[in-house]
Amino acid sequence: MRTEVALLRLLKKLQSLEASRDRLSIAESVVVATLEILDARFALLHGFRATAQGYVTAPLAWAVAGGESATTNLDHFDVEETHLNAEPLLEECALAPEGFTSQESTGVFTLAFSIGPQGTPLAIVEVHCDARPSDALRDCVHQLLGIYAEHLCLLDYAELDTLTKLQNRKTFDENFDRFITMAEQAALKRDEDTEGEARDTSNATVGRFCWLGVADIDKFKRINDTFGHLFGDEVLIRVAELMKKSFRGTDKLFRFGGEEFVVLLRFVSAENAELVFERFRVAVEEHEFPQVGQVTCSLGYVQIDPGLTPAEILGRADEALYFCKENGRNRVCRYETLVGDGLIEAPVAAASNANLQADIDALFD
Ligand code: GH3
Ligand code: MG
Ligand code: MG
Repeated sequence: MRTEVALLRLLKKLQSLEASRDRLSIAESVVVATLEILDARFALLHGFRATAQGYVTAPLAWAVAGGESATTNLDHFDVEETHLNAEPLLEECALAPEGFTSQESTGVFTLAFSIGPQGTPLAIVEVHCDARPSDALRDCVHQLLGIYAEHLCLLDYAELDTLTKLQNRKTFDENFDRFITMAEQAALKRDEDTEGEARDTSNATVGRFCWLGVADIDKFKRINDTFGHLFGDEVLIRVAELMKKSFRGTDKLFRFGGEEFVVLLRFVSAENAELVFERFRVAVEEHEFPQVGQVTCSLGYVQIDPGLTPAEILGRADEALYFCKENGRNRVCRYETLVGDGLIEAPVAAASNANLQADIDALFD
């Protein structure tokens, strides 16, 4: 009887799973379903990643008996925070051929189910139960997690660039508004925190901003023309790899098409933003590309001003990139600095736009 009820719940959950494209809310549905199927006390979905130094985990969503459930606001790993944090049970589960481990101590059954390929799972669900669940219920959870893994693959297919596996332009367009809203909230919080005397310097957003960088490989056409498209593609893949190494797990990386890439940084000071963009430029310059040898790239970046439209923000970063291209390439330029130094034209102030609108309105009065 218990199995039938669990199956019915599973089917209902699957319907909601299929309808969602938000990875965190899907993860939450999955932990809630697992909790309910196994009649567990607690279920926690860990994001999981194998790195050269070992496994890295991050809690993504959890649920406790009685209906409470939540997700982190991390949608990627912050490697520095979670590095080598994997529990032995999770590591064991990642390597177990059946993708499952369990242990019992002081009346608690802890189970772990891996999601995705053995040895390199995408995630692991840890579940705490009062009693050992039946094999049938465990199978139910396996089925659910298998479907979840498939769903993640489909999402990847829709959201990632097939060559570099970075996020694609469509994903950027669909999420940039959300990123701007986040920058806006951070700016508001920062203003609140810096107001008055009780300033909380431990706050992660104080003095930190969100940034958008547009990188473009220099003279890429020549690489294609000289070595052929296959070598050109290899350069794109390696540049994407260098990006993944140069930026943090919480930064967002996109291939915009061709040999153009976009990076979104969040809550980074102006000094650090310059440092990380420059670190990426140097990483490309110093990399030995097979056959091709040295490749360089230029990068223009801008602080995300939540008062601007996505097109305006991108346009400003593009202007800074254009300046790099016109002035020697293989360099990093910040839009605000170029404007401040009088090297590119200052944007039309919002006030002048308002004045212009007033003039236009007056014409029709
Ligand atoms: P600049 O330094 O001014 O950026 O010069 P560039 O030659 O890099 O600039 P341009 O934008 O003229 O050339 C981009 C080239 O990228 C042209 C196109 O053939 C090539 N390209 C676009 N997409 C791909 C791809 O997926 N693979 C390969 N191999 N080449 C691509
Ligand atoms: Mg180029
Ligand atoms: Mg280009």
